[in-house]
Order: sequence, then structure tokens, then C-alpha cells
Amino acid sequence: MLPIGSTIGIIGGGQLGRMLALSAAQLGMKTIIFCPDENSPAFDVTPNKIIAPYDDENALTKFANSCDIITFEFENLPAKSIKFLESISSVSPDSRALFISQDRIKEKEFLLRSDINIASFAPVNSIEDLEKAYLKIGPKAVLKTTRMGYDGKGQRIVSSLEMAKQAYEELKNSELVLEKFIPFEREISVVIARNKDGQVRDFEPAENIHENHILKTSTIPANIDNITAKRASRIAQQIVGSLNYVGVLGVEFFITSADPKSADQNPILLVNEIAPRVHNSGHWTQAGCITDQFEQHIRAICNWPLGDPTRYCDVVMENLIGDEIIDAHKNLKSGVQPHFYGKKQIREGRKMAHLNIVTK
Ligand code: AMP
Repeated sequence: MLPIGSTIGIIGGGQLGRMLALSAAQLGMKTIIFCPDENSPAFDVTPNKIIAPYDDENALTKFANSCDIITFEFENLPAKSIKFLESISSVSPDSRALFISQDRIKEKEFLLRSDINIASFAPVNSIEDLEKAYLKIGPKAVLKTTRMGYDGKGQRIVSSLEMAKQAYEELKNSELVLEKFIPFEREISVVIARNKDGQVRDFEPAENIHENHILKTSTIPANIDNITAKRASRIAQQIVGSLNYVGVLGVEFFITSADPKSADQNPILLVNEIAPRVHNSGHWTQAGCITDQFEQHIRAICNWPLGDPTRYCDVVMENLIGDEIIDAHKNLKSGVQPHFYGKKQIREGRKMAHLNIVTK
């Protein structure tokens, strides 16, 4: 258990790193942020920073020697750098969770081994693979890069072999996976925490709406029955248990209705993705719970007792994307908790802020 006043190293200087650093400060901890971009929003909230590429071993050594524990705010880090950090310091979550979630095929294989339902898929490394995979998985499917995909980047929805071939031409410089398109009724996510001692707490599922593949809103409570919520929670618990995971993790699900011919008429839950970090769909916890996901992550990696994830109000979390930040401060209603990230540049599709709107 790390004492108060310890130093937490955070890799990545975006809004998640910023909110983690704020929570760490609230708990009396110090932070150092490692990020190559000198304009990182997280640099505004802590005086300690290292500006260097993620594969600069001298800078990584200096960073590791200054921290009691290292964590990260995004999963697309070079594997070699994480292994290097693990060889000299303590990293939570560990490289196993990171490597699994960095690669969609590894992630799917892990979920299948854990007996968790997912959309059918096939790896695609050649045009022959694509044709075979499409015959098996089509007519409607999603071709995705196995790595570095986020906010819809590196994926194409296809509904004919022709379209699939065109998408393949656009994405073929990366390893690919073809996934069955799931005509889901809704998307939900569970944000869950586990500390080193194995204590586990999860927040209620949020219902997520994406616009242009980017999360727009998370609504709590989700419009699902108790049985489905409990099943989602159990699946998330199974995932953190089998990874021996330490920290906060997000699990995204598709929900579809049961096959009318099936004896089991409960909605079907398919895991779409896991994220080994605090998650955008968990931002509502800042307004809805005594302990939010950022504090929970710091508690978990320091092996402190986890906080209470009970929800005290209904919340809609809304991301402000691109231009939506302009004048957002002028229209703030009471009952709205704003989180502005202090990003200097507005770009199309860039997450600039979120609002937690307390609805009941
Ligand atoms: P991902 O990067 O895999 O999380 O995908 C981003 C979003 O694209 C998801 O949250 C869904 O809204 C949509 N999506 C991804 N994969 C599928 C799929 N197989 N079927 C239907 N929609 C999908």
C-alpha cells in the first residue's frame, strides 16, 4: 500500500491524464506526467513533467526513477517501452492487460478463452483471407485495423464483397480483422476497478450513444433490466479476475435481442472491447458517485481500499467535440458539472470537454 505523498507517474498527457492527476492531488499524492506533446492538457495541473518520445529510454529511466508507481491513460504505447519500464519499476495495469487490449485479435482470443460472447470475426492478412472471411461473416461486416484504432479510426462498415475489397485497399498496410456487423439495440459499458489485494468494485452500466464513431453521450441509468445489468457486471468481474488486473478498466458491450427461436429470451450481451484505463463512459461518476473512476483508479493502483461506487443521481454525460466548446461556458445551467480540458487547439472530432448533467 503506497503511503500518502507517494509519486504516481502517468504516461499520456490528455484529458484522462489530467483528471487522474487532479484526483491524485486530492488524495495527497504527487504526479509526474510523461508525454511527447508540450501542449498536453495534463501539464496544466501538475508542475512535474517529462516531454519526450515514448521510446526514449533515457527519459523513461529518469521518469521511472522518480515514481513509486507508473500508470497510463491510453493503451497505444510501444510494447518495448512498457516492458522496459516494468523491468525497472512497478506498472499498473501491467503489460499483459495492455498487450491484450492493444490488439483486437489478441483481445478477442482472450475473451473467447474466458467463455465470453463476442461478434464472430476472422483475421485478414491478404485478399484471399478477406474473401474467405467475408463469405463466412458477411453480408454486413466491419473491417478494422487490429491496432491503433480509436474513435472509429481504422474501420469501415461494408455490405458487399466489392465494398470489403475497397476497404481492404484503404487499410491493407495494417493487420486487419473482419467482424460481423451487430445490429445492436443499444451499447452499454461497465467501468470496474480491482486493487492489488483483489478487492473489486464496479459502477452501474452506462448506455452509450456514438456520433460519427465518437462517444457523444453516456446515460445512467441505462435502459436495461436488472438481470442484464448483473450479467454485464459479472462479465466485467470475470475479465478483471482472469487478468489479475490492477486499476480501472472499461468493458464495452453490444446488446441485441434474443433469437426468437432460442429457449433463453434474455437479451444477448456481446463484448465489443476492453480498455485498460479510465474510460470516457465513466466520466458520469464524477457527478453521480462519492468515489469517481479517477479516484478509484488511483486507490486501486496504490492498493488502497476501493471507494463506494453507489450512484446517487441520474446523470447524462455529454462530450463537447470540436467547435462545441466555443462559448460553452456562457450557456452553463445550474445542475451541470462542466469539465473543460484546456486544450489549446480546436480540431474536428477532438474531445474538448464534457458536461455531467444531473437529471434526477
Ligand atoms: P470500436 O472502435 O470497436 O469500439 O468501435 C467504435 C464504435 O463503432 C462502436 O462503439 C460501435 O458503435 C461501432 N461498431 C464497432 N464494431 C461494430 C460491429 N461489429 N457491429 C456494429 N457496430 C460496430
